[in-house]
Amino acid sequence: MNDKQVKFDDIVSLSKRRGIAFPSSDIYGGFQSTWDYGYLGTEMKRNIRDLWWKNVVQERENVFGIEAAIITNPSVWDASGHVSNFTDPLVDCLDCNGRFRADHIIDNTCPECGSKSNFTDERNFNLLFKTFVGPVEDNANVAYLRPETAQGMFVNFLNYQNTIRHKIPFGIAQIGKSFRNEITPGQFIFRTREFEQMEMEFFCRPEESVKFHEFWKNERYNWYIETLMIPKDKLRIRDHGKDELSHYSDATSDIEFNFPWGWGELEGIAHRGDFDLTAHSKGSGKKLNTLDTESNTHFVPHVIEPAVGVDRILFAILCSAYDVEEIADGEKRTLLHLPAAIAAVQIAILPLSKKEELKTIAQGIATVLRKSYRVEYDETQSIGKRYRRQDEIGTPYCITVDFDSLDDNSVTIRDRDTMKQERINITALETFFKNSLGT
Ligand code: ATP
Repeated sequence: MNDKQVKFDDIVSLSKRRGIAFPSSDIYGGFQSTWDYGYLGTEMKRNIRDLWWKNVVQERENVFGIEAAIITNPSVWDASGHVSNFTDPLVDCLDCNGRFRADHIIDNTCPECGSKSNFTDERNFNLLFKTFVGPVEDNANVAYLRPETAQGMFVNFLNYQNTIRHKIPFGIAQIGKSFRNEITPGQFIFRTREFEQMEMEFFCRPEESVKFHEFWKNERYNWYIETLMIPKDKLRIRDHGKDELSHYSDATSDIEFNFPWGWGELEGIAHRGDFDLTAHSKGSGKKLNTLDTESNTHFVPHVIEPAVGVDRILFAILCSAYDVEEIADGEKRTLLHLPAAIAAVQIAILPLSKKEELKTIAQGIATVLRKSYRVEYDETQSIGKRYRRQDEIGTPYCITVDFDSLDDNSVTIRDRDTMKQERINITALETFFKNSLGT
């Protein structure tokens, strides 16, 4: 086992041990690389969604939110090309019968058994999940679970043009579940069949589309560095070669993250051209275009799409935050250097003993701080063990209440990263956290 593998396994085991993510249907032995998020993972995913929404929607005057249905008229997926083209190349290993995505095979070697160049020919495998709507399971009632949220924005283009009181360029943004019958899900929450996407379709004039593609590449890249605090050397932008492009794309750039096994896609920023609006105009018979008021002619806008998975971001954050540090005489601590905006718990309140007078003070502090921050109160185990646990879940600050607190009305604040401790009066706590965490 190499170092990279150890780290991957460590992150997965920390996640299960502490309550970030568990195998779904755990008591039945799990199910096909699906995951349920625990109390920490749920909170962290919510923080990621909120930060994305703030950056992409709330802080911009020309991006508007949408919540579209997961199950739509199947004509949407015929017109979008997904029924015929949303495929991955599938091969079987003739030695071990494992099934793999052909474009994931390296050096013609089977990832399962290691045999060389012994695969079936490639065949296309469609990733759409099919279901039936209503009581009769026949072809007339087939519907699909959406494999991307994007089509919800395209089919609502006219509704938005008529209601938002804003001319192009404008964007429509959505956060929601998508489903793909992936050939080889795995690598924890990196690739799953049910996942959550955050996507934005930015409609613009064709002649401005290259400019806006560059614009969104930079905006999105900077967001990872400035807001999610992912170190620059763990990120890169990679432009797709022509042979890699999806059926709808004129050009795509990926923001890649250096995962424990190497570089992998974190977010795709695609130039979808007029592919989707033109396809849905044909499919629906409705004119999905916009008026150029100067020339009084209609044109089909082009679309730039930043698209990312919440689960994949969470995994990238865990990878970049995970650390094992030697603290004294061979003693080690595991910690997550999470940004405070992502950490599931921002402040832990730890009375040094279970004595009633200390509990009363500690619980009083928790009640006040809970109004503004994510707070955990914990009075079990030794203080050392409680600090280790908070380090492992990435809590930026711990407050300990001790017997001196009864006399000086002060508590100790411990910083996760430096382990420095500072004595501070209880009345100054709100100002301290306003300065360090914001409101
Ligand atoms: P890949 O090449 O990894 O299969 P893709 O290029 O098909 O991904 P897109 O269609 O561009 O992915 O989807 C946009 C984003 O959605 C991806 O960058 C990723 O963050 C996320 N995503 C896509 N598929 C999955 C999946 N199966 N599990 C988790 N996240 C996913």
